[in-house]
Amino acid sequence: MNDDLYQALKKRVTGEVRFDRASRLMYSTDASIYEIEPIGVVLPKSHEDVFAAMEVARDFKVPVLPRGGGTSLAGQTVGNAVVLDMSKYLNRVLEVNTEERWARVEPGVVQEQINLHLRPMGFLFGPDTSTANRATLGGMMGNNSAGSHSIIYGKTIDHVLEMDVVFSSGEGRTLREMKLEEAALRGGLEGRIADIVRANRDEIERRFPKILRRVSGYNLDEFVRNGKFNLVKLMVGSEGTLATVHQAKVRIEPRPPAAALCVVHFSDIVESIRASDIILPFKPAAIELIDDMIIKLGRSSLEISRLMGFIEGNPAAVLLVEFYGENEAELRSKLDEMEAALKRNKSGYAYVRAFDPAEQNNMWKVRKAGLGLLLGMKGERKPIAFVEDCAVEPSKLPEFFVRFRDVIHKYNTSAGYYGHASVGCLHIRPLINTKDARDIQVMKNMTDEIADLVVEFGGGMSGEHGDGLARSHLNEKLFGSQLYKAFRDVKSAFDPEQRMNPGKIVNAPPMTENLRYGTEYRTLGINTHYDFSREGGLATAIELCNGAGVCRKKNEGTMCPSYMVTMEDKHSTRGRANLMREILSGKLPALEFTGQDLYDALDLCLECKGCKAECPSNVDMAKLKYEFLAHYNEANGTPLRSRMFANIHLLSQLASAWPSMANWTLTNPTLRRALDRFVGIDARRKLPLFASQTFESWFAKRNKSSGNGAKSGTSGKVVLFHDTFINYNYPDIGKAATELLEAAGYEVRLAERKCCGRP
Ligand SMILES: Cc1cc2nc3c(=O)[nH]c(=O)nc-3n(C[C@H](O)[C@H](O)[C@H](O)COP(=O)(O)OP(=O)(O)OC[C@H]3O[C@@H](n4cnc5c(N)ncnc54)[C@H](O)[C@@H]3O)c2cc1C
Ligand code: SF4
Repeated sequence: MNDDLYQALKKRVTGEVRFDRASRLMYSTDASIYEIEPIGVVLPKSHEDVFAAMEVARDFKVPVLPRGGGTSLAGQTVGNAVVLDMSKYLNRVLEVNTEERWARVEPGVVQEQINLHLRPMGFLFGPDTSTANRATLGGMMGNNSAGSHSIIYGKTIDHVLEMDVVFSSGEGRTLREMKLEEAALRGGLEGRIADIVRANRDEIERRFPKILRRVSGYNLDEFVRNGKFNLVKLMVGSEGTLATVHQAKVRIEPRPPAAALCVVHFSDIVESIRASDIILPFKPAAIELIDDMIIKLGRSSLEISRLMGFIEGNPAAVLLVEFYGENEAELRSKLDEMEAALKRNKSGYAYVRAFDPAEQNNMWKVRKAGLGLLLGMKGERKPIAFVEDCAVEPSKLPEFFVRFRDVIHKYNTSAGYYGHASVGCLHIRPLINTKDARDIQVMKNMTDEIADLVVEFGGGMSGEHGDGLARSHLNEKLFGSQLYKAFRDVKSAFDPEQRMNPGKIVNAPPMTENLRYGTEYRTLGINTHYDFSREGGLATAIELCNGAGVCRKKNEGTMCPSYMVTMEDKHSTRGRANLMREILSGKLPALEFTGQDLYDALDLCLECKGCKAECPSNVDMAKLKYEFLAHYNEANGTPLRSRMFANIHLLSQLASAWPSMANWTLTNPTLRRALDRFVGIDARRKLPLFASQTFESWFAKRNKSSGNGAKSGTSGKVVLFHDTFINYNYPDIGKAATELLEAAGYEVRLAERKCCGRP
């Protein structure tokens, strides 16, 4: 059947259709603890493609799973379904209307992308997740995402005006606001939802938590508030379980003219949570908590430690408090007032301010890296996501936190803490080893106890990350059996055949099933050429990747240049690590470790080491690639091109004996085509030409010649390492370096050089 399905999709879809095992496995995970192999993957190129894929899925009666950046933390984007990846092609901002303050977008648009688009117009999209540089608006709508500034901007649900969707029946519709009476009169889907709302009105009022941060379940509460009716409100937060969005009209907000940050330091974490009550009356734009576990991890990360100069001493926690205002004077006075109030209450021990946008940006980067840092922790017990997202009324947060921490301690584990103190949503991630049956039981018991606590405090089990496979099973407990039935009725009204992302929000499997690392997880023992003892072995070095997807960012830093060009997960650090893990864990045959799929995924890796520094878990894909290539070449033979580059020093030595002939060869179109064909050096690639005199010979000659020789340094001696390319191709760089050092008063000596090992 899968082959027929594949052929049918290939015939109808102009975009890409992938059913091979490697591609499917690459889409079998997200940033959660779960893994399920999809049936296949479709990358629609157009809106018609979305319709075509949905219609084929309907005809073959197979489930569908729409996907954006795949950064979900609860397993929303893993499932045995045809995955529709919207991120590669359907990613255009189609229209912006600043007068009416809206934008029309495709679902694959990344938050940062729309904000860059809107910046010159003085606008932004309000909700801002920590994953803003790679999470898509489709995914934000799916999860009803919210960020640090939700105290001002609310959640995604408050910003979506209209949606163009395709139902599992293949029917397309535009969903927008209407009067409740009109919906009831209309019948069809609207009528059924209006009936569900009417029948459950009292229970909705009674059971839905009265807090800003609740994203679990379907948003039926939105229909009892103001007499308005908009199916968009059900679609947002539905985790792809109701329909596929192929276009949406979203609200945009004016950019605040100025912002300032104050980092308040505390020697006790509960004191820091209590401080929110003191700060909130000053109307901050954000209050974000970072605990000492994250601070320590940040200090040991290459990338993050550079940004952490603003942390004074060793606080148990810090609060990043942000204010918006018209100008710096206004912001200063707000910060003065807040600081005075904190001091009056003996709250906090240091107050570090930032007005400079670059400094503020660094502080935000540290906060936003929090989760990635935790996820990259070494050791078998990991701070995993399952109860990481509860929210309560902010005034109840200190007591809720203490009771939550008691549960963690009762199970002899610890946790990292960070999150949005301003809105009562803390991210708490207990350390659990899902490869160990006892820990899996601990995870289950802890979840039940925390869910009881959430109900007791009138809170929400998920304040922003969603239900997915980790929390959907709790919805009956949280909302009661009457509302849970109403949720199932909503699901059936939209998706009668239950084919949209099954097992999420309603009818979920147990949270302990489908684990990425379960008790059965094993890895192949491979004798490595490199020393991976510091990482805990080759498999552990690969497992450092937790799926957070920072390597999918496009607009800043180095990581990952190949993804930035191809926009393919397999050309990102995450995709490569996923593929390697699937081979090492036996999901793909061991032979694949020296096979073509892995070679193709790694071939475009430039070995730039961007990921080693920028990935919050410090995945070192370049080192993993060297290891892979050694095995690959052992099995398949070392290609002539690799041999040539490995011996570039010798080849350059030969060529520089007759530089003009060598240069003629390198620029002759016929010979370049031959090099392309037989050696694999692309004919379009400009190759470095050979200089008429090598750097070494220039250096030796000037030493001998009077008046132009090496000068005895007054400042000291410097050893210059001149690599192969400086020596044979770019001697001017070496000459300039020598002259500069000598002008600065140094005596220059050349290092005794064999092979620089660069190519
Ligand atoms: C390190 C880290 C930090 C995070 N911080 C935050 C945070 O601060 N705030 C927050 O809210 N979340 C946070 N998240 C969770 C996640 O990044 C957000 O939920 C994000 O909005 C998901 O976007 P995505 O493009 O990755 O969506 P995906 O994960 O691909 O999808 C999310 C859901 O939307 C559905 N979906 C996607 N596209 C469509 C479509 N076209 N039609 C219908 N359904 C669709 C999917 O089926 C899925 O259920 C964080 C995650 C990580 C790893
Ligand atoms: S080393 Fe490879 S995987 Fe890592 S950032 Fe550079 S190109 Fe990407």
